[in-house]
Formats: sequence, C-alpha cells, structure tokens
Amino acid sequence: MKHILLILAFCFSLLASAGAMERPNIIFMFSDDHACNAISAYPGGLFDKIAPTPNIDRIAREGMLFENSFCANSICGPSRANILTGKHSHLNGFLDNNSSHFDGLQQTFPQLLRNQGYQTAMIGKWHLHSNPVGFDFWRILPGQGSYYNPDFIEMDNSRKRYGGHCNDLVTDFGLKWLKEDRDQKKPFVAMIQFKAPHRNWSAAERHLNLFKGVTMPEPETLFDDYANRSKVLAEHAMGIDKHMYWGHDMKFHGENQFPEHFASGIPNAEYRRMNDTQKKAWDAVYEPENQKFLADLEAGNLSKKEILRWKYQRYVKDYLKSIASVDDSVGRILTYLDKSGLAKNTIVIYSSDQGFYLGEHGWYDKRWMFEESFEMPFVIRWPGTIKPGIQTKALIQNIDYGPTFLDVCGAKIPADMQGQSIAPILKNSGKAPADWRKAVYYTYYGEATHQVAAHDGIRTERYTLFYVPKYKEWQLFDNEKDPQQMKSVHNDPAYATVFKDLQGQYAQIKSAYRAHSAVLPVPRGGNWQKRHAAMNKKAHANKHDLLFIGDSITQAWEGGGKKVWETSYGKRKALNLGISGDRTEHVIWRLNHGNLRNQRAAKAAVIMIGTNNTGHSKQDPSETADGIARILSILRARCPQTKILLLGVFPRDPYPTDEKRKINVAINEIISKFDDGERVHFLDISEKFLDQNGHLTKDIMPDFLHLTPKGYGIWADAIEPKLKELGL
Ligand code: CA
Repeated sequence: MKHILLILAFCFSLLASAGAMERPNIIFMFSDDHACNAISAYPGGLFDKIAPTPNIDRIAREGMLFENSFCANSICGPSRANILTGKHSHLNGFLDNNSSHFDGLQQTFPQLLRNQGYQTAMIGKWHLHSNPVGFDFWRILPGQGSYYNPDFIEMDNSRKRYGGHCNDLVTDFGLKWLKEDRDQKKPFVAMIQFKAPHRNWSAAERHLNLFKGVTMPEPETLFDDYANRSKVLAEHAMGIDKHMYWGHDMKFHGENQFPEHFASGIPNAEYRRMNDTQKKAWDAVYEPENQKFLADLEAGNLSKKEILRWKYQRYVKDYLKSIASVDDSVGRILTYLDKSGLAKNTIVIYSSDQGFYLGEHGWYDKRWMFEESFEMPFVIRWPGTIKPGIQTKALIQNIDYGPTFLDVCGAKIPADMQGQSIAPILKNSGKAPADWRKAVYYTYYGEATHQVAAHDGIRTERYTLFYVPKYKEWQLFDNEKDPQQMKSVHNDPAYATVFKDLQGQYAQIKSAYRAHSAVLPVPRGGNWQKRHAAMNKKAHANKHDLLFIGDSITQAWEGGGKKVWETSYGKRKALNLGISGDRTEHVIWRLNHGNLRNQRAAKAAVIMIGTNNTGHSKQDPSETADGIARILSILRARCPQTKILLLGVFPRDPYPTDEKRKINVAINEIISKFDDGERVHFLDISEKFLDQNGHLTKDIMPDFLHLTPKGYGIWADAIEPKLKELGL
C-alpha cells in the first residue's frame, strides 16, 4: 500500500511539473492613451489606413482583436489600478490621478502569480504614486515621466537619467530582463508599459519627419456644438480650439504671441530636456512649419476654422508620430520572441490604459464615457489556443485582465476580484459564454483638470447610459443608430422602455459591484469644510505620532474628553481627525485630501467610525465594513509605517436588542477579521461602556451615543495597553 502511494505521489509530481512547464508566459505591452482609432487593425477607425502600427496589427492578425473592450475609469492611474486588482476604482481605492495613492499591499495579480512561481517584471510608466509591489524586477518612470532622456526610479528608490527616447529605453530594459536577468527556469509575466502616446506627444528623433506633407482626415464631429446632449459637455476644458498650449501642445518656442488662440503657461518641457543634437533635429522639422503658420496668422490669412484645423493637424500628427516608436518596440519584442523560441508558449497582449479623443467632439484627452476614450484597444496572441485573425464583439473590461492572467497561468481567481476571465472567449473563437455579462460599468470621479464632471453609467452591446450627478441628469445613446453619440435619447418616448430597462440594469450592476455610498468618497459642506481645513493645517504644520480618526465621538475629545486627552495624549504628539456627523465616505474623502499629509511616519492611528452609517440610514453592516476597509487601505498607502488600532464601533442605544445596536455589533463582527496581527489590530472595547446586562447608562452616554468625560476615561484606559504595545 505504502509503495502504491509513493508511486502515485511520484506520478502526480511528474504531472504537476509537466503542467508547470507548460504554463504560458505573458508579455503585457501597454501604452498610455492609445485610441483604437489610431491602430490600423481596428476596423473603421479614423486612421485605419494611416496609423503606423504594423507590429500591433501583426498581433491582431495572428491572434484576436476585441472591438468592445472598455476601461472602468478613463484616466491613467485608475485604469492601471483596475488592471492590477481586477476591481473597480471604488474598491481598489485609486479613483483619480490627483488625490489617490495606490495601496500596493492589497491583492494584485502580479503578487498572486509570483506566489505561484512566476517571475514578474514591471517596466515603464506606473503612475500610481507608490512603488510597485509584487515584482521581481521593476524600473518605473516617476509620475508621467519624460519622452526625452527620461529619469527612471530604480528598485533601490534612486533616480537615474538615461539618454534616448523613453519608448526605446523601456523596450531596452524589458529585453534585457527577458534575455539576461530573469530566472530562466520559471515562467514569467513582463509588463512593458510605454509612455507614448500620452500628451505632449513627442516622437523619437527618427520619426519626426513622419507624415510630412500629409493631410490627416478629420473626424465628422470636430466642430461639435454639443447640442442635444447635457450642457455638461460644453463645460469641458479639453478642446483643440481653446485649450491647446502654445509651448507644451503646439510646440512653439518662447512667449505666447497669440494668447487669443493658444493657452499660456506650460512650455515644451521635452525640448528643455533635449541635447543639442536632438534640439537641432527637432527644430529642423518644427521651425519651418511654425514660422510659416505664424506668418499666416500674423497676416490675418487664416479663418477661425482654418486655425483650428491647423492645430488639429499638428496635434494628431504628433500623436501618431509618437506611436511609431511604440510600434517599433512591439516589433522588437515580437522578433525576440520569434528568435528565442519563446513565441510558442508566450501570450502577447497589446493594450492601452484608455482611449483618447483625436478631435472627436472637438476634443483631445479622455475621461468621458463617450466611445473614443472609453474604449481600450485589446489585441492578444496565444499560439495554439487562439485561432488567428479573429475579431470579437464580446464585452470585456480592464478589470478582466487580472482574472484572465491568473486563469491562463493556472492560478485561482480570488472571489473578490470583480472581473471575469476572458479565457473561455479566447478558446472559443471569440464567442462569449451564454452567461457572460450584458453590460460593463463605468465611473469617472471628476478632477479639476479639463473640467469633466463626475459621471457613471453602463454600456451594453448597443447602448450607453450614464448619469451626471452635477445636473441630476441622464444621458442615453443608441450607438447603433448614432455611433458618433450626437443625441441623447433619454427623453425620446420611443426609447422609454429601453431607458427604464437600462436604468434597472445600472442599479443592479452598481449593487453587484458594491458601488454603494459607504465606499464612494464625498466631501460635506459648510462648517465641515472649515474643520477639515483646520485639521489639514495642523497636519501640515507638524508630524504626529498618534492619530485619532473618526466622527463626533472622536471630535469630542476636544469637548467632553478634553481633560482625559490632556492627561493621556497631551504630551504624545496626538492629532484629532474627528468630524461630527461623518460617515465612512466622508472620512475616505478627507484622508485623501490633506488630513494625512506629513503623517507618513505616525506610530499609530486609532480609528472608530461607522456609527453614522448605522444611525443615518441603518446601512447594511457589510457596506459599512467595506467603507472601513477602504479607510484602512488609504492608511496603508499613505502612512506605510503606521500601526492601526481599529476599534469596534461603540455601542449605541440603551439595550442589546435595539436595532442600531445590533447593526453596530454586526459591523464589528466583520471588521474584527481585518486584524492581520501586524499592521491592523482590532480591539472591541464595547463591553467597558455597558453594565452587566449589556445596557448603556446615562452616566457614560447621556444620549446613548456620545460619551461623558467618564466615558472618555474608560476609552483611554481601555486602549492604553494596546497603544504601548504598538510602540507609543
Ligand atoms: Ca492614460
């Protein structure tokens, strides 16, 4: 019997190692702002005859092209966070480029694959305001990075400047890792992430002359007047007409000579980084064109439309020229895979963090849920599994990438990842399984940049529906009849049934993705803003060792708790970050808007939050717990050294049978599991406030919610041993 077992075990280990050898490698090539319209392989695209993308096209030709591939949040950082986590922004915490920091300790697909024996590398644009976690090798651009002679952040956190064009360098580094530095015995995932074609669209020297003398086609909607849609469209600040910078975008030198036609203030920083040879090559191409245009402008020879058209030509040519070196890079990598023999067992993907407006609706940039920036290119080659040359309309989204990578590499997809593996579609000639999603969900959270208001919505195979909270307004587009999205039909009686049905789907999908109020950051007004600003002032002025984060019960350390505070924390560099009436969503907002600035090295943070989620709306305890999880994640990202003392939500209302009391107890049951024994320590001191029957008494909580000075004494005593343990 023993022998049989041994033999069986031996066979299984053989099978397992054979399986391990067959696990595919993944090369995930990813650019920044590359619209489907600027890839020749994409059918019907504006530049499908012109885009310099023969190598990207090759991936499509030898593999599969997804026509209905969308992002979950159309800006750089958020899309990357969606991909790493397989989750929508409201759960991975990276909502926008300006206020969010990525919590690298949360679950991501590279970490999971690394645990499964994969070698992982991340090279190029990262843009998540924190260093990569879960990679054997990384070398990233700081923030947006530069095109010319760029700096990179190395794994030891130093910065190093490299000569050359950014796309070429990223490829050099990627190839070096593939050829020399990785562990050749292990399968690998290489994320090679280009800067181009991000603004300000600076081509490599060898491509500067591309498209000389060519007149680019214009989109039908270049002169869009935004009629028949929400007035929010016309409020944008991303128009080719009005918002192109003289230096940064249009590549003129010196002071803005025509402020009536160009925005001032941002020079062409790339030009400043160039060496003399690069400058010479640049000027030889740009200066003659610029001087001719300026002379015409000066002479009054150009109509308003002609000026806009000139800007458009300059813009799209620069954009497409910057793609040429991305495509060269793709070609170099494909060639290496061919020569090394790796091609056979390597999945190759080309995608981009979101699309871009190439003059559609008169715009550049992204952010909107209109097709051109909502779409993401996605082409994938997998020899032996994907039949070559297939184009599919299956509805996929960037949250699917992580689950797909895990799936094809034989790893388990965690239940809390929100995307789905697209492997069944890849294996079945582009056909989605019968139970595949009918709609994707999208959110944009709004930023000052470009003045695009927050909106969220769904896209089905045919329709786009979104909601603009600013005007409490719906927009509905029939993409079959109106592919340019020039008329919202939400008020059209002919679409009444469709509209209602889609609104139902929208509510359903939000609920399924847990996009509920407890996790969606929101500021409050009036005095709240004043207190928020005052707390920020204190935070910015001094580093603190101990942070108290919460609602009125925390704020009142400055009221009823004042004496106890002075005795217990007066000499310990403690900061009160409590605001009366706050729910989790408000705390989430303010922690990302200044409350934690300068507090990176705080020793401990005490958090007690959630009773207003209960009190204001009797929110489902699991939702409040989601909100608390988000707060912990923000702290991990922004205060990487801080130990977190997460307190159970204090008891409220007199009796254990009271409904709100029970909700708080249920929250505590869930959040007790957030204790990881290292960064997060959970402590429920509820019982200290209760008598032996579990009743709250007025000497401790007169209104059965807020504490008396005696109550604050109990609080301080109850957490003191733990605070000491956490190094305070
Ligand atoms: Ca981008």
